[in-house]
Amino acid sequence: MPTQEIDFSPPTAEAAPYLRPVTASLFAERAERFAHLAIGHSLGDWLNFLGQLTRAQHVVLQTLPELPLPDSATLEQARRHGMPPLDPGARPAVWREVLRQLVRSLEAPGAAGVGEALLSLREATDSELEKLADTLLDGVPEADQAARLVFVGAALQVVYTALASQLAAGRWPALEVHGVCPCCGSLPVASVVRLGAAINNLRYLHCSLCNSEWNVPRATCSACSTDQSVALHEIEGANSPVRAETCDACNSYLKIVYQEKDPHVDPVADDLATLALDMLVDEAGYQRAGPNLLLISTAA
Ligand SMILES: [Zn+2]
Ligand SMILES: [Zn+2]
Repeated sequence: MPTQEIDFSPPTAEAAPYLRPVTASLFAERAERFAHLAIGHSLGDWLNFLGQLTRAQHVVLQTLPELPLPDSATLEQARRHGMPPLDPGARPAVWREVLRQLVRSLEAPGAAGVGEALLSLREATDSELEKLADTLLDGVPEADQAARLVFVGAALQVVYTALASQLAAGRWPALEVHGVCPCCGSLPVASVVRLGAAINNLRYLHCSLCNSEWNVPRATCSACSTDQSVALHEIEGANSPVRAETCDACNSYLKIVYQEKDPHVDPVADDLATLALDMLVDEAGYQRAGPNLLLISTAA
């Protein structure tokens, strides 16, 4: 497992602390990325299906009306306590309609369990859906829930991406911890080293739920904030824009994707196209620091 040298040079410009999700293009670009990654991939059918799901997220998001944000007293209280302004535990009921729209628009592939999951979600009551969302956000899923939770996660992503895009950046608290999204408090799915004026070569953690990004210095562990024990790993000879950043202080890892190596790289899609890298660092004893909501791990 070759370890890369880490670039400790300081960024050249003042970093934007947050990047809000761009609702017009985010899921559409991710869907294209899934389709591209599926070509010639051993898991191509699965990646193509996730591309379809992501395309459906894009379509539903474009037709979503403006959502009510938390009231100003709630926002002010969150700001005063340095808490994220959005709370996935207090999700707006519209997410269930988003889920039903996603489910209606998808054709199930032959893959085991997916057709059944779609059918079961079509018939689920509101309270059954709320229980699934609670499990996704706080619980340990059972194996028979996993396929349904992927769609629950996709629906919640649509709603929280919309909310994050509506929320004024001034409502976000100053960052005291690196490990959770300053907008919704969720864990990051991966981090992105970005190209572009003012953000060139800066690293942003990408929220697994609301698709917001927040700046964290490179070579800093997202889980425990140390900059002493971080190393990068890649699959030898893969020439991939994705690496795994491991931390020996807390034994965690998260993927890091480089726009410099591929400008179309996506923290969610590229993460799922590189499961071999997860196996590599998992075998070396590291545990993943944040989930990918399109891949649900269940109770062992
Ligand atoms: Zn978030
Ligand atoms: Zn750490």
